[in-house]
This record gives sequence, structure tokens and C-alpha cells, in this order.
Amino acid sequence: MTDYIFPKPPVCSVMVNGEPAEFAVNRIFCVGRNYAAHAAEMGFEVDREAPWYFTKSPSAFQPSGGEIAYPPGTENFHFEMELAVAIGKAGFRVPTSEAMDCVYAYGCGLDMTRRDLQFASRSKSRPWDLGKDVENSAVIAPLTKASAFGEAGSQRIHLEVNGETKQDARLSDMIWKVDEIISHLSGYYHLRPGDIILTGTPAGVGPVIAGDAITGGIDGLTDISLTIGRPE
Ligand code: MN
Repeated sequence: MTDYIFPKPPVCSVMVNGEPAEFAVNRIFCVGRNYAAHAAEMGFEVDREAPWYFTKSPSAFQPSGGEIAYPPGTENFHFEMELAVAIGKAGFRVPTSEAMDCVYAYGCGLDMTRRDLQFASRSKSRPWDLGKDVENSAVIAPLTKASAFGEAGSQRIHLEVNGETKQDARLSDMIWKVDEIISHLSGYYHLRPGDIILTGTPAGVGPVIAGDAITGGIDGLTDISLTIGRPE
């Protein structure tokens, strides 16, 4: 058995409804601009050429229901409500027709974003990591198995801040559907159980401040919540 100089990093895992075992998180892929109205509010026309991605470290995982400190280095910390797809089967160059076999479960997700840093890097054609790969910024609610959820369609996806609705759309508004995303992404990565895909956010993103309470939901899935605490 290998000894380690420092303790091994903890495994990040998400609860699964009805299962005693948890879903260990491997990689977190995020789809960019997958709702036309959100692309427009970010100042872009929708690019229908192909989906595109950024990533968050697995250690950015944050369970739903908790409080996180307002993160350092930003004055414009934004919420993004998203459908999370949890991969349960290895897949490489998966055809669209077989892509849904790779889905183990779905969940509500938040892609919390240092928007000012994302925009600063975007305008200089630099990577988005400081804006997106933020500690505690990949919030995932307990997962619901795909067999219990069905498929993404007309389900409502919504988010509130302090009870006021900010985002309200349908999963059918997604430009790239779940099977198309999995098929495309698996052309670049060997997908494996534990991978999570955040599928993009509807219009209405905006800032939060210390003391704000975020709630969100998708029809058929467990609600998500997050409280923003004071800066460290
Ligand atoms: Mn996002």
C-alpha cells in the first residue's frame, strides 16, 4: 500500500436519492452559452456550430444547502442555475443515438461565477479559470436517477434570490441537447463514471451579496439552495 507524504485529498461526492452510496465526482465539465437568451445577455449571438466547454476542479464541488463565504478577488459574484448530468458509464466517441446510456442521474446545479474576472479574461482572450474555477462554486443538489427523471424536455428550470425569481425557463430551451453534448464531448475526452456535465444557464443571471439566499429547482429533481456568507 502506498504511503503519502501528505494526507490524500478528500473524495468529493454527491448524494443520490434512494441510494445509500454516494456519487464520487471525477471531472466537472461546463457547457458555455447553451440558452439563446443567456448568450444574448452576455453580448453574443448563439453559435450553433458546436457546443464548447470550460471545466471546474472536482474540489470546487459544494453540496447544496450550505453557506459559502463570498469569494475573494471579485466584486461581481453571479449565480447560474443549470441542469447537471451525472455520467455513469464510460464513453468515447459515443454516437448521439447511444449517448443517453451514459447518463446515470440528473441534478440541479449552480455554476457560481466571478463575472468580473471572467469578463476581464474574456476581453484579453485569456482562460476563464479565475472567473469560473472558483472554490465552492460547483454546487450540486442530491441526484435523481435517470430512470426516475426521464429525459430533459419541457421541465421548468428556475432560480430565486431571497425569494425573488431571477431565472425562469424550460430545459427544452437548451440549444445543445443532453445526447448531443455527451456525443460531442466524448469525441475529446474518455468520459467515465463520476464525470458531471453542467449544461449551461438560462437568461437572468445576476450578482449576489453576503446574506443572500439562493434557491432553485427543476421539475422532477431535488431543489437546490445556497447561502452567501461574509467574505473571509
Ligand atoms: Mn454556466
